[in-house]
Amino acid sequence: MSKKSVFTAARVANADVTGWLPDHAVVVDGDRIESVIPVDGLPSDVVDQYEVHDLGDVSLIPGLVDAHAHMHCSATLEAYELVTTESLEMLAIRSAMNIRDALLSGVTTLRDIGSKNEIAFQVRNAVRAGHIPGPRMLLAGTPITTTAGHCWFFGTEADTEAEVVQAVRQQKKLGADVIKMMATGGMFTPSANPRTPQYPASTLRAAVVEAERLEMQIVAHTLAAQGVRNCVEAGIHHLIHARWYHPDVTQPLDFDPETVKKLVDNGQWVDPTFGHHLIGVERRAAGLPMKPPHPAVAASPVTEEDNIETAVKMKEMRVRFTTGLDMGMATAPFARSGSNARAFVLNLGYTEWEAIAASTRGTAGAIRVGDDVGTLEPGKIADMVSLEGDPSQDIANMERSVDVIQSGKLVKLGGAALV
Ligand SMILES: [Zn+2]
Repeated sequence: MSKKSVFTAARVANADVTGWLPDHAVVVDGDRIESVIPVDGLPSDVVDQYEVHDLGDVSLIPGLVDAHAHMHCSATLEAYELVTTESLEMLAIRSAMNIRDALLSGVTTLRDIGSKNEIAFQVRNAVRAGHIPGPRMLLAGTPITTTAGHCWFFGTEADTEAEVVQAVRQQKKLGADVIKMMATGGMFTPSANPRTPQYPASTLRAAVVEAERLEMQIVAHTLAAQGVRNCVEAGIHHLIHARWYHPDVTQPLDFDPETVKKLVDNGQWVDPTFGHHLIGVERRAAGLPMKPPHPAVAASPVTEEDNIETAVKMKEMRVRFTTGLDMGMATAPFARSGSNARAFVLNLGYTEWEAIAASTRGTAGAIRVGDDVGTLEPGKIADMVSLEGDPSQDIANMERSVDVIQSGKLVKLGGAALV
């Protein structure tokens, strides 16, 4: 019989992810947490009874939950170019490397909301079989989009209500946990206009009804104000980006507080993807190369600050935000999920602890895995990450993982990968 394990650290997140328990130990039995107790309370013969890992002067928090990845994309190559030119085999190899990067950065739960079906489900099978390292994964498989719509080159094209409903069923059959729809065009698809909706609210609603019947959540990408309105009316569970672009490129943002109020009343969540934006802003400031913007936004008077200002208004109106980096797109590397928390603090006015909780407990609840992960409590899966220093003092430490524990097993120790 294998011994139980004990992980001790100078700072361990409390059960609500609102403060530290100093010098505590997480006792793990198999893949689950048995207890979280003061180091002083451990039995004197602890080393005989348990496999003890003293992690030292680190901050031990629940493993990060990131609700937005595209596993076969690259943060350096344009998605359109990459996915239309690389072979499936190459995309699969890229995916395996990407999800390992995410895991070693501290992401132990990853939701992929748009990757080719041939890749996504096989990669998850390989992780589950133990062939390759990776986080536990919730998958959408291909996004559902219109013909020539956003991400058509790795999506399922479905135009009518009947086609969309069939596409939802097809994803369920393949093993999807969640459905992804493209409610508007997007930035890197030449044939899709990010300023206009791709589907009427009635078609999105039909997809929501079908996804709910099949016990899946449904999320939708939206950059246009009318796209947000359609998603809110349709009852989409999570809105991705939720920008407020006007159909006319010369116009400012078309922010609509009435729609935000409905969104909050409906209990819908938003992934604002500002972690990704923060990395882009920092790259630009450092003089690093950037991809050219989509023609539909290049000529726009809307600035980055305008987008942040509307998101802050949404936060003040009590919109609940999930952490999703949009890994693989534009400038969002798989190892940088901690930037979500940084952006929540630097851009959206969160306290450090609110941002840490959003990155763990909050997003775990939003994607309906909160019974298993997201906090360090007895009965939960022992997914944990230790961070350098104290992220409640300096949120940048969310990007400085030292040790990663997945299902009770170390996959990274003292900064060195073990997988
Ligand atoms: Zn995305």
